[in-house]
Amino acid sequence: MPFSATILTLYPDMFPGPLGQSLSGRAMEKGLWQLETSQIRDFATDKHRSVDDTPAGGGAGMVLRADILAKAIDSAAPAEDPRPRFLMSPRGRPLTQSLAHELASGPGAIIVCGRFEGIDQRVIDSRRLEEVSVGDYILSGGEIAAITMLDAVIRLLPGVMGNMESAETESFETGLLEHPHYTRPADFEGLPIPDVLKSGNHQKIHDWRMSEAERLTRERRPDLWDAYMADEDDVD
Ligand code: SAH
Repeated sequence: MPFSATILTLYPDMFPGPLGQSLSGRAMEKGLWQLETSQIRDFATDKHRSVDDTPAGGGAGMVLRADILAKAIDSAAPAEDPRPRFLMSPRGRPLTQSLAHELASGPGAIIVCGRFEGIDQRVIDSRRLEEVSVGDYILSGGEIAAITMLDAVIRLLPGVMGNMESAETESFETGLLEHPHYTRPADFEGLPIPDVLKSGNHQKIHDWRMSEAERLTRERRPDLWDAYMADEDDVD
């Protein structure tokens, strides 16, 4: 069975969206992964098909109802479905490259996209949804977050990326940000390509890329740099 994603959303037309293009789109055509959407509104019970209600305790905005979302989840993913269940949420575990690898080595994912102020806590608890965040900012819904997470996962699935070596040196894979890239023309508006890259000396090129990666990480991401240094210490 290929990696299989099921998205629960009020906006199924947002899918596959960008995931239907380029690398992930070709991979979907090849059958390397599959996507299914479920319209949460189909599980509404009143004649207006409403899915949200005012927050208990008062306050601004609306909350997605637990009963309706639970029915949508149970219908898309029976209890024996082995796939992990996620809720895209700014309160969640941060999406990282290592979470993307973890998902890519599994059977797929069931992903709930929130809207409004959020969803009733009881369905998060009873259906054991793991909350995942794509960053410290607020999106208007979970759909773009879900697309972001899936994009990061799909490119890691076996057979999706031709050149796996390029994946291994990527930012975050080594614990460092990646070194800068150059290509033709040799002279761009008076700016040359660094000599070392034209030297043909593979060891020197490797060393230069490594020191650039370290410099960029130190300057831009002290948090990653500290973790990287701590790791190096462990190796020694
Ligand atoms: N009131 C909530 C934000 C609701 S935003 C709060 O303050 O935490 C509406 C929906 O968008 C959320 O339910 C979630 O599904 C999605 N969303 C917003 N920002 C997100 C982020 N950074 N990562 C993942 N999902 C996010």
